[in-house]
Amino acid sequence: MADVRELLARLNPAHIKFDTGRGGMPQLTPQDIAAALAFVPKGMGREVLTRLWWPDGARLSRAELDRTISNIVHAEAGHRVAKVHMARTELHIAQEDVLRRNASTARDRAQIASLERRYHDAKAKVWPYDPATHLAVRESVLNEIAHRNLCDTCGGRGALILEQLKISCPTCRAAGVLPMSDRGRATRIGRDVSTYRERWKCLYEWLYDQVRDAEQQAAHELARAVSRYEVSGAA
Ligand SMILES: [Zn+2]
Repeated sequence: MADVRELLARLNPAHIKFDTGRGGMPQLTPQDIAAALAFVPKGMGREVLTRLWWPDGARLSRAELDRTISNIVHAEAGHRVAKVHMARTELHIAQEDVLRRNASTARDRAQIASLERRYHDAKAKVWPYDPATHLAVRESVLNEIAHRNLCDTCGGRGALILEQLKISCPTCRAAGVLPMSDRGRATRIGRDVSTYRERWKCLYEWLYDQVRDAEQQAAHELARAVSRYEVSGAA
């Protein structure tokens, strides 16, 4: 089957005018494709999929989708800050406990060192904040997903046939698409590459994975729904 994103793109007005030849998809009408979309669970993935490939079919406006993605980012950002507070509290309680007993054993010292590491690890995972950069990251992630950089190894399929066995593509780790380089991402958000790696890479990669996975899952659900239409159309 053609990528369902191409099917969705055919619903855009410029394509509907030339609706007679749907090369490879003769049974599917635009109505079939639109109806199949109803079987894709509501959520960020479906919104991103439609916003990028068939904007008229999106439930949320571009601004509302941006707000949805912003909410996800800020929920995760808050979660990371909460982990720092929790790790710091545990560390302080353990430190006071050792002090109260006025005797520090090797086990105490190991426990304190472990809690200190956990605290510092949690701190390192907290994202920096800058409103303009957060906006730029969200926009760049959507752009990157819209201009899919298909994996050369698997041709975007995410899988390879090796000695008659279907295996996940090792190059793209079954995603079918390859992420942009650090340098490309840094340029997109208006930062130099070292600042990007030091400060923004963690947020960017987290968000890219979230949005890409959700969009791919929605595309997968749509492909399943479309294949049901194809089967019933052929019967
Ligand atoms: Zn691949």
